[in-house]
Amino acid sequence: MKTKSFVSKLNLITKALFSMTPAQREVVHQSIQALDTEISTDELIQPLFDALSQCPHCHSIHLKKWGKSGSIQRYRCKGCLKTFNNKTSTPLAKLRKSYLWEEYARCMVLKLTLREAANICHINLRTAFLWRHRFLSAQSGKNHDKLSGIIEVDEFFLAYSEKGSNTLTKQTKPRKRGGNIDKRTREGQVTVLLSIDRSNHMINPILSADTTAEIAANLAPNITENSVLCSDGSWSYVTIAKQKNCDHKRLINGKERVIDKVYHIQTVNGAIAHFKGWVNGKMKGVATKYLSNYLAWFRESNAKLNKQEILIAAYG
Ligand SMILES: [Zn+2]
Repeated sequence: MKTKSFVSKLNLITKALFSMTPAQREVVHQSIQALDTEISTDELIQPLFDALSQCPHCHSIHLKKWGKSGSIQRYRCKGCLKTFNNKTSTPLAKLRKSYLWEEYARCMVLKLTLREAANICHINLRTAFLWRHRFLSAQSGKNHDKLSGIIEVDEFFLAYSEKGSNTLTKQTKPRKRGGNIDKRTREGQVTVLLSIDRSNHMINPILSADTTAEIAANLAPNITENSVLCSDGSWSYVTIAKQKNCDHKRLINGKERVIDKVYHIQTVNGAIAHFKGWVNGKMKGVATKYLSNYLAWFRESNAKLNKQEILIAAYG
């Protein structure tokens, strides 16, 4: 559009907007948003597909454009002759209403509940649930961050929970919720390791057992040698610090809370409290089988991913 005609059209639009009721302006606002999201979701995903440009079935790079399904480009592989689109075999495959994904991703940036996200996006709870876990599945269990400098680490425990998607439609109470658990016993609990450095890199793997070997297997590969490891008094960390040639600051219960003014585990304990408060409070407890998705979501939130970055992470 030429500048002159744009200015005259803009004047008309502005005049029209002034004469509208707030509700009418909201309708205009939503149409603009829908237009934006529709373009940007595809703009986000297509380059990711183009970068690999391979068949999702046999990984051949010999593809041919194969017509469109609606507005979506289809391809056919010259190797296995199967057809597909840019989302086939990704967590976003076969999800509908892609023009709402960016708005949904914005709800994820805000760490909203299903009900809140469903209301904002005008989708039902089942769709909101499906999208949440599809958007998180690609990053689930992937702890890529390398920690260095001053590294804080601690473990925490969550009650095992079978809360599931069936509670969305039935009025039954979840069988078990997170929250009040007997801290003296490790039975019926899931152990999570959380480690964070002062540059905000974070890992939060689920441990299959609360043992030195399991802690070492999950922590050591993500620690840069010659860092400073801050932990509680647990002996597990003594072994790992030695293994990675790290200076080890042990904050033993009842003794010092801070060593030399900078070495403490208050950042990691703050992050743990934040996570537990979110899943047990706002989210009213989460099913253990989905816990690694929530931990991935927490890492994304900690890394301050915006809505576009959340969609890119969801594509995998
Ligand atoms: Zn193929």
